[in-house]
Formats: sequence, structure tokens, C-alpha cells
Amino acid sequence: MAPVEEAKSSRRFNFSAGPAMLPDLVLDKIVEELGDYEGLGMSILEMGHRDAGGPVQQVLQEATDCVRHLLRVPANYAVIWQQGGAHGQFAAVPLNLLGDKTQADYVDTGVWSKRAMNEAGKFCTTRICAEVRERQGKAEVPPVSEWDLSDKSAYVHICANDTISGVEFLEDPDVGDRLLVADFTSTLLSRPVNISRYAALYCSSGKNLGPAGVCLVIVRRDLLDMALPRTPMILHWKASADTSPVASLVNTPPVFAIYACGHVLKGLRRSFGDCGTLDTVRQRVTRRADDVYKIIDESEGFYINKVSSSYRSQTTICFTFGRDAANQREWAGSITAKVKLTELEEAFMKEAKERGMNGLEGHPAFGGIRICLYNGLPDKAVDEAC
Ligand code: PMP
Repeated sequence: MAPVEEAKSSRRFNFSAGPAMLPDLVLDKIVEELGDYEGLGMSILEMGHRDAGGPVQQVLQEATDCVRHLLRVPANYAVIWQQGGAHGQFAAVPLNLLGDKTQADYVDTGVWSKRAMNEAGKFCTTRICAEVRERQGKAEVPPVSEWDLSDKSAYVHICANDTISGVEFLEDPDVGDRLLVADFTSTLLSRPVNISRYAALYCSSGKNLGPAGVCLVIVRRDLLDMALPRTPMILHWKASADTSPVASLVNTPPVFAIYACGHVLKGLRRSFGDCGTLDTVRQRVTRRADDVYKIIDESEGFYINKVSSSYRSQTTICFTFGRDAANQREWAGSITAKVKLTELEEAFMKEAKERGMNGLEGHPAFGGIRICLYNGLPDKAVDEAC
């Protein structure tokens, strides 16, 4: 099962920020197995999660094993699946990691960092320890040596790829002994990750991981005892890690999402070799992103991307039209707000749709164009777009 497989000719290409395209072979497999899972005369959706060693637990275990294998997760980390998406984890992070501290540091690289920080602000004092700055008209993140990290803070949080600003950490920051936490929702499985640099990381599904509905959490085991007593069971990392015979059985797990993610993960593992590294995936991701950025950079200002090359997102590429530069659109300050599209943006989207390309509009609250190159998007889509 290969995520690089060409899509069926009837399929439209989905370049949106998510939910993202799933490989055809994953969809086919789901359809094939839906009515009768492995000849058991039942759908996996109808089977009990308490059946020890049964199909649902096997599905959970296989998906977890794939995550461990693909991301080279060290043995001292727990891999769990929780509900509530990344928004759930925005609250889970402080609840599980504050311990006896009452403060946390956040690196602000865009809307998603702020949203994580605002949610954490319900449980502790939050500080922005670093934020995106502009150098020669391009956005960049200051080096870690310039982050204003506080000894009073329990952890420092980053958004590995801000899906809206298109600012990505292409390397895993080294914050020494401090606890680093990352929201990897829109970038996990696009490159190898040095898991040991993180105290915890999380990735809501709906992008590279598979269909929406579940959030993957990878957390260092020695930190599992730090949760505040008031942490709801559903967001309690240790409670999830400790269920038996497999983890993540605190409540009825979202079986369908985990099962579908499992197929995506197995496909990734098969098509990129069993070597267990994501280096080959990164090569593909970089090649495709380079193709798009080349067009932007060589357009003589027709298209403008405002992120420095060291922090340019390889997955969510955001740009505007040079001719729209004077057309300042004020953000309404809400992620659910909608800005008015410019004529060029409308025309671009219309033409793209006519050519079978969907979801190219930027985030509704910001406008512009956004090209998302998640793993499930076939190479043919990128070639045609370029
Ligand atoms: N973080 C990032 C980087 C995202 O892109 C998104 C969704 N687009 C979220 C968090 C929110 O995820 P969820 O809707 O699953 O809570």
C-alpha cells in the first residue's frame, strides 16, 4: 500500500489544510474490510475494545507499533491515542506537566501557538518566551539561545508547523534539560523527529496521520507521574498509558479513526521501506515543497511568501499576490472570522477548481493562498499544479 500511489482519475486533488487526502489504497482497503473484517462476519466498528487480544486491541497495537517504528520512538516513551484533538492536548499539556509549578513558556509562531497558550492559560500563567520576528521582510524564529526561558516554567511549548502562518521548525530545538513540548499536528510523518529532544509531542489526525478523530501523544514515561490531581481521566496521559493489555483503553477508543490511521501508517512503512526512518519521506516532502517555492521565488513578486528559507513550511505553503500587497486586510481577531478574498485570489481558486484542484484557499480568517502537500496527496497533483 503506497501513499505515493497515483490517485484514480476521477479523484479531485485536495490541497487543503485538512482533513487531507487519504491514499486510494487506504480507502479501497477500508471499503473492502468494512462489512466483514478479516472474515469474522462483522465490521471492526462493531467489535468490543475489551476483548483481550481481540481485533480492536490488535488494531490499536499495530498502529502504535508503526508509530514507534517509523518515528524511532525510544523505549522510555509511551505512545497513546486520545480524543479531543489537538485542542484537547492544549489543555492536557499543562494538566499533565505542570507538577508543582504554575507557569509555562510558549514560543509564538502563529495562531496555533496562541491557541495552545490561551487554553493553557486556564490552568497556569503563560509567557511568550520567543516569537516570530521579521528580518529583511521575512519571518524567522530567533535561535534557542535568544529565547527568554524561565526557570519557574514547567515546560516550553512550540508548534512544530504553524499551519496558518507557514512557519515550521525544520530542526528539533535543543532546550537542554527543560521540558520541550510540541504540537506536531500538521507535520508529523513528514521528516524524522529527534523524539529524545521532547518531553511530549502530540499530533491530531486529519493530516498526514489519517482521518480526523484521534490525537496521537508521545510522552516520556518518567514524566507520567506529574499530572495534577484534577486532570480529567480522558486527558490523563498516565491513565491512558497504563491500561492493559494495551494502552489507550481508558474509555471506548475512536476505533474507526485509529483503524484508518493504522492503514495509513502501514502503507507508509511498506512504501518507504522497512528501514524505519523517515528520511525517504523527507526527501519527497522537500522535493515537492522546493517545486512550489521555486515558482513563488521566480515569479518576480507576482507571488509572495514571507517566511525565511530556514523556517519555510515544507507542508503548508502560504503565499499572497504581490499586487494585493497594498490591500491590507485586517484580521477580525477570530479564527472563525472570514476575510474578503481579493479578485486575484477568487480567480486563482476558480481556475484551480476547473483543473480539479480543491482547497487552495488560505485560512478563511487570513485569506491568501495555501498549498498543503500532505503525504496522501499524489505526486501527480504537485506536478500538475506546478
Ligand atoms: N494545531 C495545528 C498546528 C493545526 O493545524 C490544527 C488544525 N488545523 C490544530 C492544532 C487543531 O487540531 P484539532 O482541530 O484536531 O483540535
